[in-house]
Amino acid sequence: MNTSALTKEDRALIAAATDAIKRRYRNDWQEVGAALRTRDGRVFTGVNLDAYLGRMAVCAEAVALGKVVTDLGERGIHTIVAVRHPPPDEKDQTVGVVSPCGACRELIWDYDRNARVIVPGNGSPVVVAIADLLPNKYSRERNL
Ligand SMILES: [Zn+2]
Repeated sequence: MNTSALTKEDRALIAAATDAIKRRYRNDWQEVGAALRTRDGRVFTGVNLDAYLGRMAVCAEAVALGKVVTDLGERGIHTIVAVRHPPPDEKDQTVGVVSPCGACRELIWDYDRNARVIVPGNGSPVVVAIADLLPNKYSRERNL
């Protein structure tokens, strides 16, 4: 998988996601923050919506994307990142970058097949292409 180092804008995106979850963290309810940069350079954030009925939970990436589509219409995803806030009983209280779940990989690809995704790397976060995170993406077509 091709990876690249973070840019200054990527670091700002991680900071925005971190700020979002630090402001809205609630143990067992809001534990992940996300930030995405649209193709026209605007930054949107979101936090996950956990739910008593687990399958109703919504990921932070989807909330951030929903804000973009609601406020501006579809603008593409230049770069996206999610970070996890540890629960109070965890020794290391560092908010750190996490990989998008499988469903979010599908969602990100559907809204921008050229999106860059910030993921955990070997010691520090790196940038990868969404296509590298989702080989053989689901499609109704047989040959894409
Ligand atoms: Zn997800």
